[in-house]
This record gives sequence, structure tokens and C-alpha cells, in this order.
Amino acid sequence: MNKPGYTHGRPSIALALALILSLFGLSRCYSPGRSPASMPQQPDQVHWNEVLQRPPVIRWRILQTGTVHVPLSGMMNLEDPKMAGMEDKPIDVLVMAHLLQRKDGAFLIDTGLDDSFSPGHKARMWGPLLRTYVLDWQQNPGQDLGSQLQRLQITPEAVFFTHLHSDHTAGVPALSEDTEFYVGKGDTFYNLPFIYRVTHLDGVQTLHEIDCAHATRAPILGSVIDIFGDGSLWAICTPGHSAGHLSYLAITTDGPVLFTGDASHTRKGFEMGIEPGWVDDREEAKRSLEKLRKFAATYPQVRVVYGHEL
Ligand SMILES: [Zn+2]
Repeated sequence: MNKPGYTHGRPSIALALALILSLFGLSRCYSPGRSPASMPQQPDQVHWNEVLQRPPVIRWRILQTGTVHVPLSGMMNLEDPKMAGMEDKPIDVLVMAHLLQRKDGAFLIDTGLDDSFSPGHKARMWGPLLRTYVLDWQQNPGQDLGSQLQRLQITPEAVFFTHLHSDHTAGVPALSEDTEFYVGKGDTFYNLPFIYRVTHLDGVQTLHEIDCAHATRAPILGSVIDIFGDGSLWAICTPGHSAGHLSYLAITTDGPVLFTGDASHTRKGFEMGIEPGWVDDREEAKRSLEKLRKFAATYPQVRVVYGHEL
């Protein structure tokens, strides 16, 4: 006796399901393992005036690795009343990595794009969702992360990701296999069979997760982590655009620099106080943006660098 809803005429549904599941199995996407990042002893308190005046030990260099063509509505929330009447349209934005050189080695904030984005190459990302988020990209010959590092003769020790979206991880294949990778705890790496496939992290065994629950509470910026234990580079917990999003503050030879990451993709979004359109959690994204804006307003000597704009 069949249960209600089941009929003899439907074995094809089960067969189709089995076929789909086996195809999913065949095309299973790789995602690196995760382990807690070991961080140096953290300060009990943070005094930004004192931190911002420390002698710089970091030399900062922007590595511009290409541009992507994205909808304005992804970069800024067009529903915000301040954007009333603004039409959505595609815009070109920069895809950058930031090189931080210290005496003990070179480090990256994000990785930009590798050479698979150069003309005539097939980028290591595909799937129908790609066209929803990234319309197109452009990279001049020699602009990819690997070529730039080779010209500088630099092998970074580690990458500190703002988050794991592919425009921030796509340079990873250009890095040495000894590179260590750090990310905010719980940040999602999207790699979905048939829908949105990327292979940037296929060579990465472990992502070291920076846990905002173990952060120091600092004025204005809230949860922050002193990455090297000397106050030269701070991770700032700025969830919203993604669950484990981190911004960074570096005390560089060019002065202090606040890297917003995609807490604000653009200068205009930052200046107008409009969070990205693409967010995991809009209220968190608004709070994260507001604290960065307050910090920048309180310390005007800090240069602000946006996720996809200078
Ligand atoms: Zn981005």
C-alpha cells in the first residue's frame, strides 16, 4: 500500500534525485580546513592617540591587479533615502591587494587577481551566479598579483583576508605554497557545485581563523586584534558585508592607513554613510560602517582606503 502522495508512476523522481546527488558528489567543491589563529598576547586596553603616533615599521604598497565591472547597487545600498532617484548601473572598480613589508617579512591584505584574469586566459571562476555579481573584468598584461610580486622579488609570508569573496581570494594561486592564510572566524567561502565554482583556494590546506570573541575592546572601533603584538597592524571586526569580515588599520611609513575592505567598497559610500548593497546582515553592515566613519572623523590623520577604490 502506497502512502498518500506516492504513486507507482514516479520512480523517475527518485532516479533523477539520485542522479543529481551523484553529480553533486562528482563535482564536490573544495574548501580549506579551519583552525584557530594563534595571535600574540593582546593589550588590555588600546589608546588610539598613542598607537597612531608609534614609529612606523610597515612599508605599504598598493598592488592594483585589475578592475571588475559590477552593479552600483552591489557597492551601495540604493534603497537608502540618501540615494533616492539614483539609477542602478554597472561601474568599474579596482581589485587590489595591499603589500605590507616589515623587517620580519612581507604580508598581504587580500590577494587581488591572479593571471587567469589576463586577456586570453580562463579565470578560475565560473557559473551562472557569476554574472549576477561580477559582470566582467579587465586586467592588463603584467598587472596580476604573481607578476607584480615577481618584479618586486617578494614572497609574502601570510595573507590577512578582509573576507573570502572571490575578488579578494583570486590571487591565491600566485602565492607560494608555504603562505599562511588568516580570515575572520566563520567567514563563508562560497564554492557551490554548478552555481558558482571557484578554485582559488584549492591549494590552501588551512585557513587560520581570527576570533573576534577574543578581541580587545577598543574605543570607537570595538573589537580589535593586535596582529603582530606591536601595535603596527590591527584587525577590526566589521561584520555585515560578510559574517567574519575584517577591516585593518596599519601604521605605515606613509602614515596610519585604515583599510575598510568591503565594509565600504567605495569612497562615496563611506563619505555618505551608505553601506554596501551586497550584505549578509544589513544592520551589522551599517554599524560596522558607522564605527569606521567615526574613527576616520576622530583621527583625520588616518588615510582611508576603500575595498575597491582609493
Ligand atoms: Zn570585494
